[in-house]
Amino acid sequence: MTEPYRILQSVFGHHSFRAYQEEAVNAILAQKDIMMILPTGAGKSLCYQLPSLVMEGISVVISPLLALMHDQITALSTFGIKASMISSMQSPSEIQETMQACRKGELKLLYVAPERLKGESFLNFLQTLPLNFFVIDEAHCVSEWGHEFREDYRQLFRLKLYFPQTPIAAFTATATKIVEHDILHQLSLSNPLIIRAKVERDNLVIKADYRNANGREQLLAFLSGFEKESGIIYTLSRKDTESLALFLGTHKILARAYHAGLPTEEKNETFRAFLNDEIQVVVATIAFGMGIDKSNIRFVVHMSLPKTIENYYQEIGRAGRDGLPSSTLLLFSNSDIVEHKRRIGEQPTSEYQKVAYEKLEAMAKFATSQVCRHQQIANYFDDTINPCVTRCDNCVDGEKESVDISHEALKLLSSVYRTGQRFGLQYVVDVLMGANSEKIEQNGHQSLSVFGIGSDKTKAQWLSIGDRLMELEALKVGEYRVISLSEFGAQIIKQRLHVSIHAKRLEEHKRASKKAK
Ligand code: ADP
Repeated sequence: MTEPYRILQSVFGHHSFRAYQEEAVNAILAQKDIMMILPTGAGKSLCYQLPSLVMEGISVVISPLLALMHDQITALSTFGIKASMISSMQSPSEIQETMQACRKGELKLLYVAPERLKGESFLNFLQTLPLNFFVIDEAHCVSEWGHEFREDYRQLFRLKLYFPQTPIAAFTATATKIVEHDILHQLSLSNPLIIRAKVERDNLVIKADYRNANGREQLLAFLSGFEKESGIIYTLSRKDTESLALFLGTHKILARAYHAGLPTEEKNETFRAFLNDEIQVVVATIAFGMGIDKSNIRFVVHMSLPKTIENYYQEIGRAGRDGLPSSTLLLFSNSDIVEHKRRIGEQPTSEYQKVAYEKLEAMAKFATSQVCRHQQIANYFDDTINPCVTRCDNCVDGEKESVDISHEALKLLSSVYRTGQRFGLQYVVDVLMGANSEKIEQNGHQSLSVFGIGSDKTKAQWLSIGDRLMELEALKVGEYRVISLSEFGAQIIKQRLHVSIHAKRLEEHKRASKKAK
């Protein structure tokens, strides 16, 4: 058995490497620069922690957040691996102590914040250590093209200046091609091995549907295709995990609830029973899954909308690790969005809230869109693939139950045009519906020919039609969410092109708005 394998099993307690890990470990051991783009939860940390143990010296990890460093160090200590950090939150004597431990060769990994590299003295200190390699965690922070640019990451260009012989391993969960190039450039990686995970999971069938009254009948219908096979069902609240597990029990499905509020022994027992196929289903909140490596999970169901595509992708990704065909079902309703928004609203910082709302919106779009599901996920993670044709509901029953909205599309596109292509979708829909609004009056838009021509539909229906037109790229969304016509949009108006939408996208909204009345 090779040394990495031995350590994988004896120190980390894993049976085998996950996809891409061995490749990364070997490249690092061969002193190569690497850049790894792998989704969250795929197991990037192991790729640098394991080689650090094989090598003699110390590895330095640059990480953007104190909390992340802290978590990593705590996790490492449970494996008996000596790691520490140097941060501005520590007292000078604590920092001295850690530096001393580095000099004595007592640590395998040292975590530092990027701003440390500004100081000449710190760089000089590092030069006295037997360095294995540098790790740049969350490497996308180095790029202004990325969504989380950090000024301090700019310091990282110094690494190759001061340490030309020390390899660099950069890791991130998300990097578009532009960001990828920028990272390579900023860090001056030399002839790096680039490992980019393929986003598409081609053994998964992905389906999403509006949830009926409580969705349980839909769930049972789905589960009837998986007698005695393992699966996970995710719910939004802890209470729901318990009531749904009981409900499944009454239908002779062996299920147990799992959430963060349960006693540790009970959680461990459920985990164990699930791994050993003693129970069929775990009904869980998102607390369940971290580190789950059961290979024969045949299905994953979401009883409500996840809050981000990242979460969703990671959760459905637990199905079919063995490569055999597996299925996923997402049941959602507008009320899920309301609940997520409420939760986001409780978060303290507006910066966090803004990102969270955007991610939620992307998730909601995914659920209602008619585009190939695999393709949408790939697009979200900046990968480009062809429609799956056979492995998602949108491809398989694409043209089923669609309704003609050519007339409505014409109305909406004309309203965008008539209002000067200077407003968001909400406003344009208000004009269409003849809303009584100050802003409309100020703009004099109540006298437009399109004012009020859409009062036969609900606002929610119009918003769906708007989404559909964006999906078809007939409408473009610009800065401040201003919508304008694309060339294709103009063509639809001129040539009276045919436009259709899944019937359900209009129906659900009808129901939702009736309820709201
Ligand atoms: P990432 O950094 O990519 O977000 P992590 O390194 O935090 O992911 O790993 C996510 C989870 O996967 C951790 O619980 C880790 O213990 C587990 N894990 C990593 N590699 C393996 C493996 N080879 N086998 C089983 N579990 C693994």
